[in-house]
Amino acid sequence: MRRPCSRLRTGTGCRALSGYAEVQSQIVAITKAHKNVSARTVVSLLVVIVTALLLVSCSHVDNGPQVKRHSVSENLEITAIRPGVWLHTSWHTFASGARFPANGLLILDQGELLLIDTAWGEQSTRDLLSWIDKEFSHPLDAAVVTHFHADSAGGTAVLVDAGIPVFAHPRTVGIMRSRNMVVPALIAEFTASDAVSFRHTELFYPGPGHSMDNMVVWLPMTRILFGSCAVRSPEFSGKGNVADADERHWPIAIRKVLQRYPDVNIVVPGHGPVGTKKLLQHTIDLFADH
Ligand SMILES: [Zn+2]
Repeated sequence: MRRPCSRLRTGTGCRALSGYAEVQSQIVAITKAHKNVSARTVVSLLVVIVTALLLVSCSHVDNGPQVKRHSVSENLEITAIRPGVWLHTSWHTFASGARFPANGLLILDQGELLLIDTAWGEQSTRDLLSWIDKEFSHPLDAAVVTHFHADSAGGTAVLVDAGIPVFAHPRTVGIMRSRNMVVPALIAEFTASDAVSFRHTELFYPGPGHSMDNMVVWLPMTRILFGSCAVRSPEFSGKGNVADADERHWPIAIRKVLQRYPDVNIVVPGHGPVGTKKLLQHTIDLFADH
């Protein structure tokens, strides 16, 4: 649902309305200069011009904030990847004092705003929602969480409280329910297929890897693959958290991802810098011995 034009942040559409008075004064000037122009002609002209201005205003397309990289808080950063696609990176501090980042995406496509994964933790998810509220002309239409861990689904309760529909694979819903967590809505189409069209993305469940429920998200227009924690970055050495992993099946799962999206352009891992297809091969190699 769109908010009134006064909330639009980009473009010049709404300024068109403020041009109304200017146009009106110009028409009055024309009328004075040409006394023989009939009142009916002036009114018709005015109606045509104002209608055109309103059409320009209301056909405005929100392109989202024009940020390259923006620190929302000390634990949350937004980075533009492609027009209409932003990376959200949030940092969690472990009891040891170690800080660790996690990635998610924010996608604006054909007027729909979709969040992939919550920020890591409730406070950063609140900060993310506040930033979205400030920078976009309408709120999130939906969110998807790619697995049950806190670095992916840790802000689910915040989104649900804010009235945002949150969706997940049936396995994720099952695990979160069994752990008495606030559960996302189940994407029923997964019972028939491992690949589901969701809004302007494809959600793909390649089988167990980092966790029993890990999904990846494919953005066909930009050929971006959000691998979440199923995809490892070489800059975050090692296998990461394997407490819930299926290390034998993990490389099989990522080979399926590679086969399904051979023309992938950008790969976003769960942790670490955005990369290319090489991240998929790196992940396969990491678990090749199993
Ligand atoms: Zn995880």
